[in-house]
Amino acid sequence: MPFFGAHMSISGGLELAFERISRAGGESLQIFSRNQRQWRAEPISDDEARRFTAAWRQWGNFPVAVHDSYLINLASTSRETAEKSIQALAAELERTARLGVPWLVMHPGSHLGAGVEAGLRTFKNNLDKVFQATPETNKVMILLETTAGQGTGLGADFNELAFIINESKWSERLGVCLDTCHIFAAGYDFRTPGEYRQTFTDFDQIIGLEKLKLFHLNDSKKELGSRVDRHEHIGRGKIGLPGFALLVNDPRFASHPMILETPKSEDPAEDRVNLTTLRNLLKS
Ligand SMILES: [Zn+2]
Ligand SMILES: [Zn+2]
Repeated sequence: MPFFGAHMSISGGLELAFERISRAGGESLQIFSRNQRQWRAEPISDDEARRFTAAWRQWGNFPVAVHDSYLINLASTSRETAEKSIQALAAELERTARLGVPWLVMHPGSHLGAGVEAGLRTFKNNLDKVFQATPETNKVMILLETTAGQGTGLGADFNELAFIINESKWSERLGVCLDTCHIFAAGYDFRTPGEYRQTFTDFDQIIGLEKLKLFHLNDSKKELGSRVDRHEHIGRGKIGLPGFALLVNDPRFASHPMILETPKSEDPAEDRVNLTTLRNLLKS
């Protein structure tokens, strides 16, 4: 059975995310390691790391990932933004390593008009600088997230992620996070057995299934190929339950973390409903 979980707030303390995911009944977790809308962020203190690790153990040592800040754009054409993004991503990697978390999920950024190939090269070069500058974070793998391809966003085509992974000097430090809403908005269908098979055959041939480490499970408010990223509750969007049933029962992903990023309030009720929906799709 996959590890079904959700993205949780760290408001009040990083370790509180474990209490929140426990209450929702999740068995995998994603967090931001600092406020995702600010450039400046303090490093993780020894005390914070200790409390985090203790709460993680208490919850059951389930899979955990960190998601990077939305401000980071390693593909930016602005020298200043690219430089700030390099610093911020290095700090993200250091915080992830300090927490003992194995994965940092990030978006491949936006080329801002420079063109896809130029954007991918800029991204890759800047990413390699970050790896070069942070040798002590070598236990953390960066997971490039598939995107919906809004605006000049990179990463909506599996070939773009493959390009980064193949061109980077640190290929072995790179994996992929597949977001179901994003690939659907990008035009990859998986609602019927035939389409499902085709999409994952493409992924395997272009990137390699061994690079796929984690899923974001979100339904989509927008149509197939819309290139618009709007998350919806599982089964209530344009993807629908049959597509999710194919995914959660795929034996190749039977021990992968599958993490919700669906809309919610403070209360864990919505996460609990979505997690139950997913578990009900499992064929015993
Ligand atoms: Zn993301
Ligand atoms: Zn996502």
